[in-house]
Amino acid sequence: MPPFAIENILELDRRHVWHPYAAMVDPPPVFPVAAAHGVRLRLADGRELIDGMSSWWAAIHGYNHPALNAAMHEQIDRMAHVMFGGLTHGPAVALAEQLTGIAPAGLASVFFCDSGSVAVEVAIKMALQYWIALDRPEKNRLLTIRGGYHGDTFGAMAVCDPVTGMHGMFRAHLTPHFFADRPTCRFDGPWDERDLESFRQLITVHHDQLAGVILEPILQGAGGMWPYHPEYLRGVARLCEQYDVLLILDEIATGFGRTGRLFAAEHADLRPDILCLGKALTGGCMSLAATLATRRVSDTISAGGAGVFMHGPTFMANPLACAAALASVKLLLGSDWQTRVRAMEAQMARELAPCRDLPQVADVRTIGAVGVVELHRPVAMRRITRRFVERGVWLRPFGRLVYIMPPYIITADDLTRLTTAMVETIAEEQGGAA
Ligand SMILES: *Cc1c(COP(=O)(O)O)cnc(C)c1O
Repeated sequence: MPPFAIENILELDRRHVWHPYAAMVDPPPVFPVAAAHGVRLRLADGRELIDGMSSWWAAIHGYNHPALNAAMHEQIDRMAHVMFGGLTHGPAVALAEQLTGIAPAGLASVFFCDSGSVAVEVAIKMALQYWIALDRPEKNRLLTIRGGYHGDTFGAMAVCDPVTGMHGMFRAHLTPHFFADRPTCRFDGPWDERDLESFRQLITVHHDQLAGVILEPILQGAGGMWPYHPEYLRGVARLCEQYDVLLILDEIATGFGRTGRLFAAEHADLRPDILCLGKALTGGCMSLAATLATRRVSDTISAGGAGVFMHGPTFMANPLACAAALASVKLLLGSDWQTRVRAMEAQMARELAPCRDLPQVADVRTIGAVGVVELHRPVAMRRITRRFVERGVWLRPFGRLVYIMPPYIITADDLTRLTTAMVETIAEEQGGAA
């Protein structure tokens, strides 16, 4: 009997385990997974689901990939972990070199941490410490755009969308930042200069208080799955330069090919001062994130009063996670991922198009390996999840959004099964509460 073959897993889960954004009282159903391989999740009852989520953007190579497993086996026999204060190791150094080589030009200093939210906290702290070091501590606010998502910790929450995020409940504990209107020009539509007006106005008025601008380039993820125009970002970068405000890009979701470029910043030739990476960094098999900064940022902080950057997670640069990340990045760069992602985009656009004719559908959009159907009303989560599982696919809609971002290795046939399940299930969907 394999370990964790727990007879009463659902009962024990219900009794003791808190799931993300879930209640402990009358929790929604969860599905026990026994194993996963390629694009398939095998449930404990033997059913197999085609994965449309890549475990939240992360598993770009699919599950149980032999190259990632081999890298982790090799590393675990040396050491699973060792502290990073005063010590260093091959996996971290090799990964840092690799990342600085592929990231937008100029990002030469890498700070490792454990999760995306912490990478955002680190980025915010870097921006604040940069201005403190320059004796301009009044530059301590951030400017962002509405509809963003940057994580669940307090610093990150404060720059998430103020309406759909958690500002209402935690207002008293969140630093008030500045929010420009969300860009409305679509990624593949015409550009209208007026789209930048709200952002231009805020940075013009408040730049003396601004440490940085933080946003998700090209594709806003969990805040609404919204791909917007590269020209917006070129305008943002110009204004940051003009008003001496640091540009922080959160590529935790978009990084590693998801939007069709290795980093979404490339769609607009951006050169950020600070860049956050996570999610697909390890190919989805370990928790690891990184915040990259230019030498200007890291040298200024290092020359400041504190003399050091004030952050240091216990599990910083975990060797096992770094080894997995290095293997994942090499696997990606050695593959023909651009062709795959382009083919997925074309196929999803074609196969999701019929949703446009459904009265309950407000919009259909695709970018890179992401396909989104936006409904007029929120989906009934429990019902729609059950219907997807019955159709042999794994999707996790939220609010009015039903979307897929499968592993890049998915075959055309499996992708058709995902899109077919989407179209059929959405056609049944009337909206309303579960
Ligand atoms: C998921 C996400 C985060 C938070 O990452 P965690 O690993 O969940 O803490 C931050 N920013 C963006 C853009 C994300 O998609």
